[in-house]
Amino acid sequence: MSKRDYYEVLGVSRSASKQELKKAFKKLAMKYHPDRNPDDQAAAEKFKEAAEAYEVLSDAEKKAAYDQFGHSGVSGMGGGAGFQDFDFGDIFGDIFGDVFGGRSRSRRRSRRGDDLQYQLDLSLKDAIFGIKKEIDIPRLSVCTTCDGTGAKPGTQPVTCRQCNGVGQIRMQQGFFSVQQTCPSCNGSGTIIEEHCQSCHGKGLTQSTKKLSVTIPAGVDHGDKVRLSGEGNAISGGQNGDLYVVINVLPNKIFERNNMDLYFEAPISFETAILGGSIEVPTLESKISLKIPPSTQTGKIFKVSGKGATSVQRSGRGDLLCRVVVETPINLSKQQKELLSQIASENNESNYPIQSSFKSAAEDFLKE
Ligand SMILES: [Zn+2]
Ligand SMILES: [Zn+2]
Repeated sequence: MSKRDYYEVLGVSRSASKQELKKAFKKLAMKYHPDRNPDDQAAAEKFKEAAEAYEVLSDAEKKAAYDQFGHSGVSGMGGGAGFQDFDFGDIFGDIFGDVFGGRSRSRRRSRRGDDLQYQLDLSLKDAIFGIKKEIDIPRLSVCTTCDGTGAKPGTQPVTCRQCNGVGQIRMQQGFFSVQQTCPSCNGSGTIIEEHCQSCHGKGLTQSTKKLSVTIPAGVDHGDKVRLSGEGNAISGGQNGDLYVVINVLPNKIFERNNMDLYFEAPISFETAILGGSIEVPTLESKISLKIPPSTQTGKIFKVSGKGATSVQRSGRGDLLCRVVVETPINLSKQQKELLSQIASENNESNYPIQSSFKSAAEDFLKE
């Protein structure tokens, strides 16, 4: 495959200044950098090509040789195999310092085990009043046989010979070198020669831990309770956290809306007409709810301070009871006769809602 002209690769004229060459290379390098194009072979080739062109053209001596003899002029002093000695650290420091520098620093942040999640089913009552629960968490813990070193008890990990304990090595990638995590020790800087039998050298074992979790009063569905340091362990780092995710099970009576509890209570039509009292449940006990005469379906009665609690606020919300008039069924002949008698004495003032609906409907049909 014939090599492209270096000036063409960088997209500059043969009289381009050092500054223009640098600018052109920076643009291409930013576009095709392997960090930005993971697993893209074509981009990697373009990146190499641009780096090689810039390496030659930014060096006065190599540039002169290239200008005079083309690719063959620099093959002995750089092109292809000869590039391996070139230190790209300088170019990267100069060109990528501002862009990629921050990222490589963040990679070195302290190691931390994975966070874990556990779904905890709670009844409505337990969510509102709080509860202490025992839970079993399967997680990675530091191996007790080797104290997390991964080495057989009585032996010590030895310094990695490939990286001399640094954990990083310089790798040749084609013609330039990059800093990489040492493959022998995976960046730890040490090698375990005799593995601990309990953890097979990992320093961690999978086990189930029993934890006692205090769920505060007022948690709601989807809330998370964090148990700091109760997640997975990691060798040479901090444990992750455990998040207990609250799953409030549906309740047969109550529906919760933040601090209020809502429910529907059926009432007889006699109670709706004449008034009376009905028994309704609260979270703690039964109470008697007074129903005034002429109560319609849908009327909501409020019982103050008998609702839910909140993690953020003190006190209790309200209990809201919506009454629904139940139409009686399975009536005896006598009951039906008595109702017919009542109906025969009905007048318009007994049913004002029906009267106003009737006149609204007539108005509508006249339009
Ligand atoms: Zn072990
Ligand atoms: Zn190493």
